[in-house]
Amino acid sequence: MSPSPTQGKSRWRIALGLLLAGLGAASGAAAVPAVPGEFLLAGAPAAEPAPMRACTPRMREGLREHRIEPPPGGWPGVPQAINVFNVFAGEVMVALGEREVCGRMHDARTRDSRFRTSVGLVAVPAAGSREPIRVAWAEPLQADWRPTVVLGAPSPVQQMDTMRLLVRVSCMAIGMALAMSALMGFIGTRDRSFVLQAAACLVLVLGQAVLSGLSGYPRPWLPVGDHESWWLAAFTAFGIAALLYGIWRQSGVAGTLAPVRRAVAWAMAAAALAGLLVPLLPPAGLRALMAGLETGFGMACLALLAVTGLSLRRGDRGAVLGVVSIVPFLAIIAAELADSRLLASYRIEILQLAVTWFLIAMGYALTRRFSHLRRQHDAMRVLAATDELTGLPNRRSGLARLEQLFQSARDSGEPLTVGFVDIDLFKRINDVHGHHVGDQVLVAVAEALAASMRDRGDVVRMGGEEFLVVLPGVDLPMATPRLELMRQRVREAGEALGIEGLQVTASIGLASLCAADEDPASLLRRADGAMYRAKQDGRDRVSGATA
Ligand code: GH3
Ligand code: MG
Ligand code: MG
Repeated sequence: MSPSPTQGKSRWRIALGLLLAGLGAASGAAAVPAVPGEFLLAGAPAAEPAPMRACTPRMREGLREHRIEPPPGGWPGVPQAINVFNVFAGEVMVALGEREVCGRMHDARTRDSRFRTSVGLVAVPAAGSREPIRVAWAEPLQADWRPTVVLGAPSPVQQMDTMRLLVRVSCMAIGMALAMSALMGFIGTRDRSFVLQAAACLVLVLGQAVLSGLSGYPRPWLPVGDHESWWLAAFTAFGIAALLYGIWRQSGVAGTLAPVRRAVAWAMAAAALAGLLVPLLPPAGLRALMAGLETGFGMACLALLAVTGLSLRRGDRGAVLGVVSIVPFLAIIAAELADSRLLASYRIEILQLAVTWFLIAMGYALTRRFSHLRRQHDAMRVLAATDELTGLPNRRSGLARLEQLFQSARDSGEPLTVGFVDIDLFKRINDVHGHHVGDQVLVAVAEALAASMRDRGDVVRMGGEEFLVVLPGVDLPMATPRLELMRQRVREAGEALGIEGLQVTASIGLASLCAADEDPASLLRRADGAMYRAKQDGRDRVSGATA
């Protein structure tokens, strides 16, 4: 025996009660006794020095040392922060006198925890000391990706480091939020492009994590290990594939041309394949790949910009967004060619901001697509419920509305009357005047009936030359004169067509809801019966059904 609804409900209540009781008991068991005093103390005194990694010979392997000389007259005896930014892979060493730090961007634990986007140290050289700063790093993955050494008072250097961290984290957070909203868009629409957008966001967020070294902060959460170059090259390749997809999606109508589609598919496949081949490449191969990816991406951007321009020329205004989304990348290419100092010192942040700008533009384009799909869906629903010839509700939607009105009339006890309207000898109108005149008559009759009603939705084309008029809140004695008037209007509508020999009349059967009507079909049957009686009685008249 299946449980009754009330039994089901009480079971839920019992289950919820038990769950709450269980949670209460668990929290009681885990409750920490209240701490006396005015503040809470957490943690314990450190037992050993912070785990700062010593510079081993292996770490120094292949690093070429650079020297930064002190100011004339030697160092002032105040703390100096020395930080190296923008090293994408491999070890970095910073040293001043006795103090020496080695670390990697992706290995945040081993660096000075005061700095999160750089490898740096704070040292206090003796006043007047002439010892140089020694910095060293692995050979950059790209010749023009130069490291940036920042020297200064600890506080401003740390502030700059924090600002960079904020930009990097925010860009990743925005990317994640956009990925989430794209996934929700997919749940709402089942449209594949939302999944692709989410995938593109995730690839670009992970790529940013590797690029910015945040994959190691606060602890390594991606298994980058000693293979930063591989990860960086692979994510550059996958990221470029994702960017190409996004730029192509926004390139407008011209992007749908077969050669463009094929070229983009090939370029994406080549970039993704390059990403997969990365672990097989020697360091020199990786450098060549990175250079190739950069050049290829620049050229693809320009090519897609041309495609977008073509779409704009064809009047596709939506493609403006494609141009807007790509502007930061074009600016980066220009800055690269001009050897911009700003780009060199904020390369990671600028790249992340450009990617974020792009993802936002892509998200916006997708939102527009979403509302377009919605409008299309709404339009289709209207189409499915409308009769094409007369614009009246069709049989299916009319019956659905009648069902609703039937139920509410039943519940409220209000009257409900339906009128079955059938054009007289319509076959003959078709035969004598032609089918197109028949159609004109149908449209004119539909218009005459609908114009007589307050709510046009209450006149339905049931099919052929048959219409249904629904009169909620109206009983038979009130309905009869209204339908008489409508019958008159039908005749006038026929005359207004001005076709010689054409006479349009209709027979109307009326039925009001009575206790014996179990469903709308029985009400309709009685109205139909009344209409046939009107036909038998000589047509062009209104006949009411008895209860
Ligand atoms: P009665 O007075 O007994 O109702 O006779 P009638 O000729 O109106 O009835 P019948 O059901 O024999 O004929 C209906 C005709 O309506 C037959 C069909 O060809 C025509 N018809 C149905 N749908 C359309 C339409 O969309 N356009 C046109 N022009 N004719 C239609
Ligand atoms: Mg008929
Ligand atoms: Mg007829």
